[in-house]
Amino acid sequence: MEMKIRDVETIQFKTYSTVHYTRWGYQYDFFGPKYEVTSSLTRIVTEEGAEGLYLGGDKAVTDRWIKPLLVGEDPFDRERLWQWMYSLTRWRVSERIIGVIDMALWDLAGKYFKVPIHKLLGGFRDRVKAYASSGPNLGTPEVYADHAEACLKEGYKAYKIHPYIFYDPIKKRPCPDTITFPREDIEVCKAVRERVGDEMILMYDPWTVGAGGGYSLEEALWVGRELEKLNFYWFEQPLLEDRIESYITLCSGLKIPVLAPEMSGGSFFTRGEWITRRAADMIRMECGFGGITAVKKCVDLCEAYGVKCELHGGGFGHLQVLGATSPKLCEWFERGLLGPGFDYEKPRPPLKKICDPMDDEGNVLIPQKPGLGMEIDWDYIDENRINPP
Ligand SMILES: [Mg+2]
Repeated sequence: MEMKIRDVETIQFKTYSTVHYTRWGYQYDFFGPKYEVTSSLTRIVTEEGAEGLYLGGDKAVTDRWIKPLLVGEDPFDRERLWQWMYSLTRWRVSERIIGVIDMALWDLAGKYFKVPIHKLLGGFRDRVKAYASSGPNLGTPEVYADHAEACLKEGYKAYKIHPYIFYDPIKKRPCPDTITFPREDIEVCKAVRERVGDEMILMYDPWTVGAGGGYSLEEALWVGRELEKLNFYWFEQPLLEDRIESYITLCSGLKIPVLAPEMSGGSFFTRGEWITRRAADMIRMECGFGGITAVKKCVDLCEAYGVKCELHGGGFGHLQVLGATSPKLCEWFERGLLGPGFDYEKPRPPLKKICDPMDDEGNVLIPQKPGLGMEIDWDYIDENRINPP
């Protein structure tokens, strides 16, 4: 059987967000009142009427670069189309856009064959352990401890701390410069460990960003040793990832596993370098670096080296990859970001349901509907559409 792609469409619509970003892209008060944003949904359709969807996309980039590449091609030739798209990263096509298109192609195939994507990849499990991933700058150590305890009561078996990021916890005000607060960050870790005891696995992520942002190597070594005393499970992205040598030094100086690189471009290729240079003990990857096709390649690469691959962030694509991998390789699903008073369980348009409902034991269920398993509220999109057909 052969099919032909007829169109690659970016549907733009108005929606809202409650997550707040500053002009640096990182936030002091992560959760706040609603504000309007423009969002998009990418739709790939074939001459035969098959359809694949994914959230996101960039109309200008898709119309200029992706559409001319894909129209007339067989949507089941995902590997060839991925290689073609990856060659466009030297122009204006980001790995993130490739990821959106790749996931829409997988969605199309899953829907056509009436199976969830993890069954196409080769199914392994129907649920995955979730960790509660805190928002940054939640408040005092006490606030973090209360939040971790609330998550434990909800069923979570693990909690990840995002500490103070571009925020001065002493003066209690935004701190956009590169000053960091390792001692205050560790006070948060101590308070959380004291509160939840050994009942939760704890992870730590100082969310290193920007040129010169985040800890110095010396600070990261100190923080890592403190985390070891508190029996934390991983130390995530503790340094700027453009300097791989400092990661090699850090890994060799610490016992706690270092999880990285989270933000480095170069898809799974870069992750291969990080493994062989021993710049990370566990590898970080996400669908934003080329979609399900790229994440699956990365997971397989990690398996060959006996290195864990922990996926960054949630979403439908990650759940499908996790449904097709062993927990020995990809152990956790990141659920969040979470904070006191923030209603994570409520779906945000255009989704009718959240991707990751959780059972009482802290497991997220892998979607079993054909394709990615998204349920789109088309009435909402029609009412808020920016570029009606
Ligand atoms: Mg992170």
